[in-house]
Amino acid sequence: MITLALSKGRIFDETLPLLAAAGIAVDASIGASRKLILPTGDPDLRLIIVRASDVPTYVQYGAADLGVAGKDVLLEHSGEGLYQPVDLGIARCRMSVAAPAGFRYAEAVRPGARLRIATKYLQVAREHFAATGRQVEVVKVNGSVELAPLVGLAHGIVDLVATGRTLRENGLVEREQIFDSSARLIANRASLSLRADEIGPLVERMARAVDR
Ligand code: ATP
Ligand code: MG
Repeated sequence: MITLALSKGRIFDETLPLLAAAGIAVDASIGASRKLILPTGDPDLRLIIVRASDVPTYVQYGAADLGVAGKDVLLEHSGEGLYQPVDLGIARCRMSVAAPAGFRYAEAVRPGARLRIATKYLQVAREHFAATGRQVEVVKVNGSVELAPLVGLAHGIVDLVATGRTLRENGLVEREQIFDSSARLIANRASLSLRADEIGPLVERMARAVDR
């Protein structure tokens, strides 16, 4: 049995067509189920549903052989033992710095100044500002990140942007782009080498599905 870890929402919705193209039917109505272990049309493949940021953890410990996780999640996850065989090209977005429209960002972020940034992505935010020689204080929030600069928790945010609609609706403007993100198929290194004949063909079918 191969176990593939997925998060509900866009990763689940965008992975299903890739699985279908790889010859694995998944009943779409299953997405509405509360079950956390889901069968697929392939009796040797099951899906498990976990929080997006937990996908690398399940795969790292071998509780799942494979997983689908955004580059954002993978950069933030410090664990080892993960192999990234395929960029699935789904869940595309970018990691950006944003701040309120009226905020004089360029002045506030120069060396010597001390900006406060709210984000779910502590590592990414710290590394981005450190790599560009600017000091910031990073405050961890777990959601509704766009609110932070509106009520004085922070001057700006580091978060994912796709269409920019959430930023716009909250009066925020994108100031810097940090990297482009898409979801990757990840594999447990030990599973992949010990059960290569079982897991390898599925990985290859998914890679071919992406190229179509
Ligand atoms: P949770 O909602 O459980 O806090 P999450 O916000 O990380 O977790 P999703 O919103 O489902 O979960 O996002 C899952 C992944 O999809 C992210 O890790 C990222 O790679 C990608 N993603 C996030 N926002 C967008 C977006 N607006 N457009 C496209 N892809 C996105
Ligand atoms: Mg979300």
